[in-house]
Amino acid sequence: MKTRLLLCLIPSVVLASPLPKQLAVPGGIAKIPVGQSAQPAPDVSFYGKRVLVTQQNDQWVALVGIPLSAENGQHKINISHHGKISSQAFNVDNKDYPAQHITIKKKRMVTGFTEQDLKKIKADKVSMGKAKAVWTEGSIDADFIAPVEGRLSSLFGLKRFFNDIPKRPHNGLDIAAPTGTPIVAPASGKVINTGSYYFNGNTVFLDHGQGLLSAYLHMDAIHVKTGQQIKQGEPLGTVGTTGRVTGPHLHWIVYLNKTPVDPALFIAEDIPRLDARNNK
Ligand SMILES: [Zn+2]
Repeated sequence: MKTRLLLCLIPSVVLASPLPKQLAVPGGIAKIPVGQSAQPAPDVSFYGKRVLVTQQNDQWVALVGIPLSAENGQHKINISHHGKISSQAFNVDNKDYPAQHITIKKKRMVTGFTEQDLKKIKADKVSMGKAKAVWTEGSIDADFIAPVEGRLSSLFGLKRFFNDIPKRPHNGLDIAAPTGTPIVAPASGKVINTGSYYFNGNTVFLDHGQGLLSAYLHMDAIHVKTGQQIKQGEPLGTVGTTGRVTGPHLHWIVYLNKTPVDPALFIAEDIPRLDARNNK
């Protein structure tokens, strides 16, 4: 009887999986309680996009990805419980991200695209757009480790200029490491897309459940296939220089509700260790 009781208790422990750090700023994450977990989980959306809902203690908690473009001040999530719609307000605080100027020697990575380049860029957008739209119901794995051992070379959110041309802000975290350094899955998930893209180079997308996705860019080799289930720490491939880069590094993106958020919030414990390499 004792053993059976223990087995019954284990699932509730597993459900309390660690969640990312909350930081309600543009590019950050808001953790919002949305009801007692004794009730079925509500459906939550933010600007029309479905939001991840998971259990923490006796509560359902929405993990809202806040776009880098979000204005400071009050925003609302919509909550649907048995067809009953309500909304809940939360505040987004200011965060000023620094500017970064980058010189790209390969000019065709910034301007002067050929007809063929533009065709490839367009096709890439369609393929990756499908990956970014993946939503899997059920359990999530947000218990992340750093996907590569390296140096933090460029933080998330930087306002970017390529050859003095303003581009979209940096939507990932860059970890620099020599070509061939292994990249591992930071958490369990399913491979939902692999490809060789014009700007992003060799790329892998992972699905960790309910719109929590991660992507690995500029890889040298890819060691996984679409559809493959993967556990935390298993190899995805290696660090490389494919696509628009100035040197070997991993550009790592994490999405919540189709919104890139700061990956550092998921690996708060690993950040000081990786950062220490910058001062060596
Ligand atoms: Zn990057």
